[in-house]
Amino acid sequence: MEILILVVIGIVLILAATPMSFKLRYRPPKGWGAGECRWHLFHNEINIHPDYRFDQGLIEHELYHARGSILSNWVRSILYEFVDKFRYLEEVEAYRVQLKEYPKGVKGERIAKFAEYLKYNYNLPNKLTKDAVKRLTR
Ligand SMILES: [Zn+2]
Repeated sequence: MEILILVVIGIVLILAATPMSFKLRYRPPKGWGAGECRWHLFHNEINIHPDYRFDQGLIEHELYHARGSILSNWVRSILYEFVDKFRYLEEVEAYRVQLKEYPKGVKGERIAKFAEYLKYNYNLPNKLTKDAVKRLTR
């Protein structure tokens, strides 16, 4: 019995220490929008629409979702699916990472656009997304 527990602990530690790999492709996403990160068991699939292949902000956004270890990706994909607040905060952070790539002159317009995306495209309750502009501006 002890050996089984040690094997399970070992597997968990390996999953926690192994970075999740990703495949970045320039092709239309299967979902909405110009980019997406689809979580799989042992790799992430990032699809960037070919029209947006030079949008470094969008690429950084999707790479943000693909960060971390295999174990942390499993945990995040479950939380993302089932916990509205987690999905909201994950996307806010991804959009904040994305915003860093754009020049100051367009940031205001981008913040307004991303706040709209957060409000309508992630199946989030209104009470959660009402502070989106404030969180994106922080
Ligand atoms: Zn995202």
